[in-house]
Amino acid sequence: MSGLLQNGTLNTRSFNLGEFKISCVLDGLARRENINQTFGIDQEPETVQALMQQNFLPPSDWTHGFTIVVLQTSDETIVFDTGFGPSGRPNGTGQMRARLSEIGLKPEDVSLVVMTHMHLDHVNGLMEEDSPAFLNARVMSSKIEFDFWLDDARLGTPAEPSAIATRNNVLPIKDRFAFFEDGDEIVPGVTAHSVFGHSPGHTAFMFESNGERLMHIADTAGHYVASFQRPDWEVLFDMDKPRAAENRWRIFGMLADEAIPMIGYHMPFPSVGYVERTQTAFRYVPATYQTDI
Ligand SMILES: [Zn+2]
Repeated sequence: MSGLLQNGTLNTRSFNLGEFKISCVLDGLARRENINQTFGIDQEPETVQALMQQNFLPPSDWTHGFTIVVLQTSDETIVFDTGFGPSGRPNGTGQMRARLSEIGLKPEDVSLVVMTHMHLDHVNGLMEEDSPAFLNARVMSSKIEFDFWLDDARLGTPAEPSAIATRNNVLPIKDRFAFFEDGDEIVPGVTAHSVFGHSPGHTAFMFESNGERLMHIADTAGHYVASFQRPDWEVLFDMDKPRAAENRWRIFGMLADEAIPMIGYHMPFPSVGYVERTQTAFRYVPATYQTDI
């Protein structure tokens, strides 16, 4: 990994991983209140507030970030997830498509869109009003995820907002879709890893080039303190909470033990870091200049 500190703008950061060029592009930020109503919902509010304060964060207010990963290989320009799209713009998100110009790309340059899962903060940017946001791109997702969100059984349940987002953004371009399964190498050097729990088909990706590795963990972690330091805490957005917790232990343990860098969709921008084991769980360590010298 090299170049993280040198190459970027306020809302983009690019670096190299072997032969790959990876760019993190910020779709936007959302200010939120009452963090205990999203992370540690099975805990006393004071317990969640105390952990935030131990980590020099406000006890209740928090900022949710949304980072799109753009991976350029010798053959492909791949976008992982699409952000909020037009629906986010009144609130300042949905900026990813416009910000591609800051890394020298146009939306038409994208050859493949990979969906880590289909919650609305990931899927709403697939369409730009009535036309595909990435005109020349094919799209890949887990078949489990695709089928789950398009199933009529989601309507009238708490999952309805993301089900409607998927209908609006996936159905018009469903012919562009192809599907991956756990362990598939979707393009050379990019392998799908099922981390079900956050959603039924939620998937992380290992990138590998010239012996260098990095994992895009997507939403395995939703918060850089709570998710790593208290992996067992229940998270509002995890649809199967015990399974999501089990996968946090598994994925963070692997990243820590093998010193593999990671990107997380909801980490503080530029969202690249490492995982360290602590006595009780883990700690997220943002990447700085480790490999830039
Ligand atoms: Zn998300």
